[in-house]
Amino acid sequence: MSSLIEHLDAKLRAIAAQDLTRSLRAAEGPTGPRQRVRGADGLARELLMFCSNDYLGLAAHPRLAHALAEGAAAYGGGSGASHLISGHSVAHERLEDTLAAWYAPHIPRARALSFSTGYMANLAVLGALGDAEAEIFSEALNHASLIDGCRLAKAKLSRYGHCDLVQLRGLLQASQARIKLIVTDAVFSMDGDIAPLPELLALAEEFDAWLIVDDAHGFGVLGAKGRGALELFDLKSERLVLIGTLGKAAGLSGAFVVAEATITDYLVQAARSYIFTTASLPAVAHALLTSLELIENELGQQRRARLRALQRRLRTGIAALLQRRPELGWKLAPSETPVQPLIIGGNAEVMRLAAALEQEGLRVPGIRPPTVPKGEARLRITLCATHEDADVDRLLAVLERAVS
Ligand SMILES: *Cc1c(COP(=O)(O)O)cnc(C)c1O
Repeated sequence: MSSLIEHLDAKLRAIAAQDLTRSLRAAEGPTGPRQRVRGADGLARELLMFCSNDYLGLAAHPRLAHALAEGAAAYGGGSGASHLISGHSVAHERLEDTLAAWYAPHIPRARALSFSTGYMANLAVLGALGDAEAEIFSEALNHASLIDGCRLAKAKLSRYGHCDLVQLRGLLQASQARIKLIVTDAVFSMDGDIAPLPELLALAEEFDAWLIVDDAHGFGVLGAKGRGALELFDLKSERLVLIGTLGKAAGLSGAFVVAEATITDYLVQAARSYIFTTASLPAVAHALLTSLELIENELGQQRRARLRALQRRLRTGIAALLQRRPELGWKLAPSETPVQPLIIGGNAEVMRLAAALEQEGLRVPGIRPPTVPKGEARLRITLCATHEDADVDRLLAVLERAVS
């Protein structure tokens, strides 16, 4: 065997010894609360899913499938090139104009730029704005794509503890940097809690800093019209740089950055993950316009209300279970979003529990270090507006059985 294969084989064995092996499972059919998923034996069975980020249940909405087909008929398949060469279409432009209008009340002179994924958008923003004259203040629980963006940046990097405004203030006070960039998830992806954005923005104003907000899990979900965390807190400032993703609540794929026009102009000139990648399919950009319409109108409003009802039902049920069984030592994270983590503790324990749930036909992913801190392995339960009350009740009943 070659040395590379031996080397990797040893690493794989070390990963397995810590109960950290991740594995792929292929789903058949559309995304939804019930999906046919192939098991290790290659046989598909229907599972009740509590794991997708399709919070509004739009991924399988017939209007999106229809809009995609319509977009494909109008624009064909691929974009053929990066945005700056020839991949930018009127569909991308319409999407960007609509998003810029959405955030005009929150960011003066807002302009939007579309990206093929949120990962790319985060690399673009941090890599381009985080130059050698900048210092980035990065929240401890930020998503991996923001962390990788910080790694790409030439800026000095300072980390502050989870929602620790006191520590952040001290770091800002001590900073000598001309450009200060605070960067945070709006909704923390493994915890479900919401960043104290009004307080963070106040610090940005006080210390001449800028606030970069990754609203991957708030977009479509938070705010009366689903415009996310900026709408929820009614934030207004030219110091805001918003990143939203379109593969979660929006039900398709892609991402966007909205910011003051000089910032988006600069990203077009300098952001490598914008410039050196093929533009997303125009058909997707076209269908995303339908997705935005669904998000802000009555359907979106109903589905957001439904999500809140499901969250309450789940939290009440789990709280009752934890009260009956305090010796389990589990903790329900304080979350007001569809991300509802149940913190179990050990890696092996959480994987045993996830496997027991799967035996009963439920898919709830176990999340382990390094995605979450050691000793805080958890079931990351996510809710979708198209779950039924009975689905949540079944999850509660199966959890109860798994520990009795
Ligand atoms: C999912 C996610 C991303 C990445 O977005 P993709 O479009 O999936 O690449 C970025 N940030 C956060 C917080 C996320 O949860």
